[in-house]
Amino acid sequence: MLMPNTESLLHAPVATSSAQDRVTPGRIEVITGPMFSGKSEELIRRLKRAQIARRRVMSFKPDLDVRYHRTAIASHSSQTLEARTVANVEALKAELFPVLDEVEVIGVDEAQFFEPALVGLALELIQMGKRVILAGLDTTFAGEPFAPVPELMAVADEVVKLSAVCMRCGAPAVHTQRLGASQALVVVGAAGLYEARCRACFKPYAEENAEQLELKGIGINH
Ligand code: ADP
Ligand code: MG
Ligand code: ZN
Repeated sequence: MLMPNTESLLHAPVATSSAQDRVTPGRIEVITGPMFSGKSEELIRRLKRAQIARRRVMSFKPDLDVRYHRTAIASHSSQTLEARTVANVEALKAELFPVLDEVEVIGVDEAQFFEPALVGLALELIQMGKRVILAGLDTTFAGEPFAPVPELMAVADEVVKLSAVCMRCGAPAVHTQRLGASQALVVVGAAGLYEARCRACFKPYAEENAEQLELKGIGINH
């Protein structure tokens, strides 16, 4: 038996709509952490489970990220899930909105490469009852917040922050280290321009990385 005041809270009128019009709000889930922490793997896992539950899923990634596939989200462990490659939030909306009635779960990988408008879009989608799952880097190679992921974390229902394994010492890694050209030779066949590092091994502005400016123009190689 509910206490009267609890009951009145549960049945409190909503100012903007009648009870019949009300849509059950959706859910924003953010999967974050440094490179190699398993963000794409976790995103793919959640989206595949949603498909198993017969939810209609649509996935997106920015066209900056064409590492392995143009038409799929891909993890460093070669897992993939079909996705649309879009240039920006506007292009994402143009693909999603015409079929929005058919879509229940929206996945976005590499959220850090989208503009701040991604936050407004996620909020708009949950008002329509959609489940929105976004994966992306929380910090840049300089160790600074990587918009719009921190803003997404702030408005999320759930935030999962994963760690990678430090490539120097094996400790849990929270940072993405950008490597200088000479260091890249040391990791030939491995990560290339970036590796996961723990706080102790992370050296964002060390001299050994001075040549990172020369890497400008090579492109993003996450
Ligand atoms: P993210 O999307 O966060 O960059 P992925 O999901 O693409 O990560 O890849 C995670 C996978 O990368 C791990 O399961 C593992 O197989 C591999 N991997 C390679 N290097 C590392 C590392 N330093 N730490 C953890 N996993 C690594
Ligand atoms: Mg990834
Ligand atoms: Zn370390």
